[in-house]
Amino acid sequence: MDADSLIHLDHPRDGFNRVSGLSMLRYGPEIALPRILETYKRLDIRQTFFVPAWCIETYPHVVEAMVEGGHEVAHHGYIHENPLAGGREEQAYWLNRGIEIIERFTGQRPRGWRAPLYNFSRHSADLLIEAGFVYDASLMGDDVPYILKTDQGELVELPSHWGMDDWPQFVHTMDLDYMMPINAPSRGMEVFREEFEAMWEDGGLWVSVWHPFATGRLARWKQVEKLIAYMREKGDVWFATMEEIAKHIQACRSQGTYTARVDALPYYAEPVFVKKA
Ligand SMILES: [Zn+2]
Repeated sequence: MDADSLIHLDHPRDGFNRVSGLSMLRYGPEIALPRILETYKRLDIRQTFFVPAWCIETYPHVVEAMVEGGHEVAHHGYIHENPLAGGREEQAYWLNRGIEIIERFTGQRPRGWRAPLYNFSRHSADLLIEAGFVYDASLMGDDVPYILKTDQGELVELPSHWGMDDWPQFVHTMDLDYMMPINAPSRGMEVFREEFEAMWEDGGLWVSVWHPFATGRLARWKQVEKLIAYMREKGDVWFATMEEIAKHIQACRSQGTYTARVDALPYYAEPVFVKKA
C-alpha cells in the first residue's frame, strides 16, 4: 500500500499541490483498503501488506484495521525511497527507521521486506539478516521459494516478478510518468489467472503484487474476487501470509522435506567490464 508516498517522492517540490494525482493514490487507503479487508474477512484469508512507514504514520487507522484483520504488515521502505540510490549507511538508516515505526504501530518487528521498486541492493541481504528479518520478497529468481545466502547468514526469498505486478496492467498516471493503456479489468486479470494455472500445475509459489490504488478500484476488485473464488474451487491452494510461507519453508528445510535452492549474494564483486579482444 504505497498510497501517495510515490508522488511526494517523485515531485518533492510540488507533489503536495497535485490534488488529482493525490486523490487517485489516496483512494488506496481510504476506499480500496476497507473493500479489500472486507473481502478477506468474508473469505477468511490472511494476507501480507507491504507498507512504507510514512504511510503507516499518515494512515494509522488503515494499518490498525489490517492488524485487526490478522494480516501481516511488512516493511516497504520509509517513503518508498530507492535503496539503490544511496550507500549502505543510507539504506540502513531508512530500514531502521521503518522497523521502529512498524514495531510501534503493530506491536511486532517486521519479519519481511520488499524493496521499493524491487530495487534490492548489494547491501540489502546483509542489512536484513542483521536486523533479524526472516524473508525478502523483492527478487525474481525462481518459481518457488529459495534461500539467499551471504557471509552474514541466510534469508528466505519469496519471489515474484513483473508479470505478477498490477502496474503494467492498470496504472495510467501522468503524475508518475507511467502511462499504460487501460485494460478491461477481466483482460488484466487474465495475466494473473494464467500465471496461477502454471503455478498450480507445477506446484509453484504465486505472489501477486496488487496496489490498492490500482487493483482495489471497484471493477478490478470484482475480478479479483472472481479469481479467488476460482482458485478456491480448484482446490489444493494454500492462501497464506508471506511470513507463514517463509516459516513453512524453514520448517520443511529443518525436517528435510524440502531442499531449497541456495543463491549466494552478492552476485559480483565489482563492475563487469568486457574489453575488446
Ligand atoms: Zn511500492
